[in-house]
Amino acid sequence: MAPIPGSGLAKGLAVTLRTMTKKTVTEQYPDTQPDLPPRTRGVIGLFEENCTVCMLCARECPDWCIYIDSHKETVPAATPGGRERSRNVLDRFAIDFSLCMYCGICIEVCPFDALFWSPEFEYAETDIRDLTHERDKLREWMWTVPAPPALDPGAEEPKEIAAARKTAEKLATTQPQPTTQPQPTDPTGSNPEPPTEPPAGPTAPEGDAP
Ligand code: SF4
Ligand code: SF4
Repeated sequence: MAPIPGSGLAKGLAVTLRTMTKKTVTEQYPDTQPDLPPRTRGVIGLFEENCTVCMLCARECPDWCIYIDSHKETVPAATPGGRERSRNVLDRFAIDFSLCMYCGICIEVCPFDALFWSPEFEYAETDIRDLTHERDKLREWMWTVPAPPALDPGAEEPKEIAAARKTAEKLATTQPQPTTQPQPTDPTGSNPEPPTEPPAGPTAPEGDAP
């Protein structure tokens, strides 16, 4: 059967009218910023102070897009006669976000909590080389990492906090308590020796005791 002339137009207008009366589901980005969940994988931030250059993240990254350079430095012995130590010093830490597939393995495997997800995602570039973020830029992303969610009130105490509390309690019981009160300082500068015996007070007459 041949279609009725103008039926297509009528159907199209009906769809338009129906859609106009419905609530919009499209986010009006960039006029409106999207309301992202806290665990959004936007970009990776580096907290450099925690990084020990163990290279675990670079080794585990499936895309091989983490570049780390470092050198060794000798740290003098802390005590006379002690042994010198060597430590790794970070020279370069970069992530190529044009290769990264946002799997999060590097963040999971980092044993020292040096890598974090930030929900920031507005870092598109016109030159692909600019998508390699060096350590300074990775540090800048750290300031956009949201605070961790509050602990569940019924959760177990974290083992680090429990260990620190036990150590503090142990120290408090083993350290000697101060037994004497500090003597006030003589303003004239001639501090007399504290009396070894209390001064003799008035003696109560015999027989007056209750
Ligand atoms: S998120 Fe995955 S792909 Fe991206 S740098 Fe980390 S390990 Fe590599
Ligand atoms: S795994 Fe963590 S500590 Fe080790 S090199 Fe990577 S960021 Fe640094």
